[in-house]
Amino acid sequence: MQVQGFIKHSIKAAAAQNASLQPRAQAYQTGAPFAVAVPHKQTAEQIYQSLARHAHSASPNAEWVARILSSWHAGRGALPDYLGLLPEEFQALQKHLYGRALLSGISTVGREPDFSRMLERDDLKRLMMQSSAYPGRAETAWMAGILIAGCLGSDHLWQDLGLWNRSDLSGLVRYNFPELAAKNTRDMKWKKFIYKQLCEAEGVYVCRAPSCDVCIDHAGCFGPEE
Ligand code: SF4
Repeated sequence: MQVQGFIKHSIKAAAAQNASLQPRAQAYQTGAPFAVAVPHKQTAEQIYQSLARHAHSASPNAEWVARILSSWHAGRGALPDYLGLLPEEFQALQKHLYGRALLSGISTVGREPDFSRMLERDDLKRLMMQSSAYPGRAETAWMAGILIAGCLGSDHLWQDLGLWNRSDLSGLVRYNFPELAAKNTRDMKWKKFIYKQLCEAEGVYVCRAPSCDVCIDHAGCFGPEE
């Protein structure tokens, strides 16, 4: 009798445990948000420390993404939920760089991605992947997706991405998209530069001057991004 009671108890406990795990499992299957290791109330600094502690990839993207995620979690920058990636890509990115999904994909300020006003999204992706050092690598595609989502913002790209300074962005572009970075010989503002490359690739000339040196918009395209 005692043994039967123990078995019944074990079955009940297992069922209860399975029930508590189900929402997580379903979240992985559907890409929906789920409870994660880092609670929402943590500060940007604490988030950054958690991510830095868990970083297990040799890729420098682990550092840049930790900065991006800590800012994003604190509501800084312009990146939407899941950093503009698909939910499953967001989880895969975290697992790839930090060994596990530490953050829910829902931003604290609740920004849904709105790519309906970005008709050039596929062209931007193509431009970046063509200038990638690792064209077949998922990590590179995720970084391109994050950069593109940052282009939806209205500030300097490094600010929209939630990076900590412009040199973070320069390093990120140089590492992931070296051919693109190499073309920015005059240190043009990154968002302006990327869109100019897109226009040139499509044979569209939108500049109002024959050269940057004589252009009245020079300050808008070059100069400090602070
Ligand atoms: S400075 Fe003028 S010419 Fe040069 S990229 Fe900007 S808008 Fe075009």
